Amino acid sequence: MTGLIIHRGTNEIGGSAVEIYNKETKLLFDFGIPLDSALRNYYSLEEYKLPIKGLYKNEEPEFSAVFLTHAHPDHFGLMGLLNPKIPIYVNKITYDILTKINPLLPNRDDEDLNLKIINDEVNIGNINIKSYNVDHSISGACAHEIQIDNKVIVYSGDLRFHGRAFWQSSNLKRKVKNPDYLIMEGTTLGRSEQNIVKETDLEEEFVKLFKSDKFPIVEFSAQNLDRFITIYRACLRTGKIFVIDPYTCYVLEVYSQISKSIPQFNWNNIMVYFANNGISEKLAETKKLYTYKSKKISVEEIVDNPQKYVIKGNGIIDEKIFNRIHKDKINIIFSMWKGYLDRPSRFDSYKDIITILHTSGHAYINDLQKFVKEMKPKNLIPIHTEYKEKYRELFNTNIIELQDGQDFVLFPER
Ligand SMILES: [Zn+2]
Repeated sequence: MTGLIIHRGTNEIGGSAVEIYNKETKLLFDFGIPLDSALRNYYSLEEYKLPIKGLYKNEEPEFSAVFLTHAHPDHFGLMGLLNPKIPIYVNKITYDILTKINPLLPNRDDEDLNLKIINDEVNIGNINIKSYNVDHSISGACAHEIQIDNKVIVYSGDLRFHGRAFWQSSNLKRKVKNPDYLIMEGTTLGRSEQNIVKETDLEEEFVKLFKSDKFPIVEFSAQNLDRFITIYRACLRTGKIFVIDPYTCYVLEVYSQISKSIPQFNWNNIMVYFANNGISEKLAETKKLYTYKSKKISVEEIVDNPQKYVIKGNGIIDEKIFNRIHKDKINIIFSMWKGYLDRPSRFDSYKDIITILHTSGHAYINDLQKFVKEMKPKNLIPIHTEYKEKYRELFNTNIIELQDGQDFVLFPER
């Protein structure tokens, strides 16, 4: 028997965990922590543990491998609970994010990880797993094609078609046709704004804001390379110098393997503010920090001529600037999921000067419809959505709505 259990993700965005198994082999795809954890100051991984046998430390492993689609916590966040005997397959970029970048961050120090790099495809038992890069708000995102008992299952992970790497998602629908099952994310299904905003559209908006006389502090994730490039290009077009932190310099360095056209700290119109935080300390321990010295700038230099600069925000520099420049003259450009503003943060007394400028890491409905139409899956299974019942109206194929933990038979006995 070949089966599928979505342990979490049939009714929520994030916390995904998908088991696919046959008689001989059990595999898990993604092992994420629910998004509500991002709104809490303290939690333990144990609180989010799922009742899955043979997966955790101190028990006999029943799983042959875990595959991660990308390095967002709602897809990998529980891997610290895994039995280190079980290999975790990721692509090279995700491997580098998990092993080089994330250890710099607080609470992200997963030890004992049995990570392995998947080069395009791998066979585990009699199951073949291929990995396809897709466009998402973090580099290294991929979808998986799983060939099991002569049938094909595609798991989309998170994807979109409006970022700078949109062509990667388009490649997936060209290369994989008529799978028996497509397990597809539907993050945006409940959203009313469905006008497609591309990264290139955002660039125009940044240019407009950078031309205004308000001093811009941009809050965004350094791991979101598309956004970095968008803001950097807007800086070049407006003659501004982009002041980034050592963490961002390091992320760019790790991403430099993707292409030679990825900006680095020593490029034109980039300066570095040495934020005095835990990340800089860790970068100093390895001497990495000092390699950015040639581009160092102080807060004094910035506030003396604020019209010259665009700041990549972080807790340290934001506070120093708030103390030196009057609030009325600052524009905080929030370029992340706006849900983060719902939790207590350093922005609480600055909500009146925040401009939200963001585009989703997830495909809009229109693009998902085109995706399904071209790939033509025989069956479509909703995941990573709060609106699985909408799949029936939106997609013209057989829809299988599952519940978390439901053991669903994909194919009866071979
Ligand atoms: Zn994601």
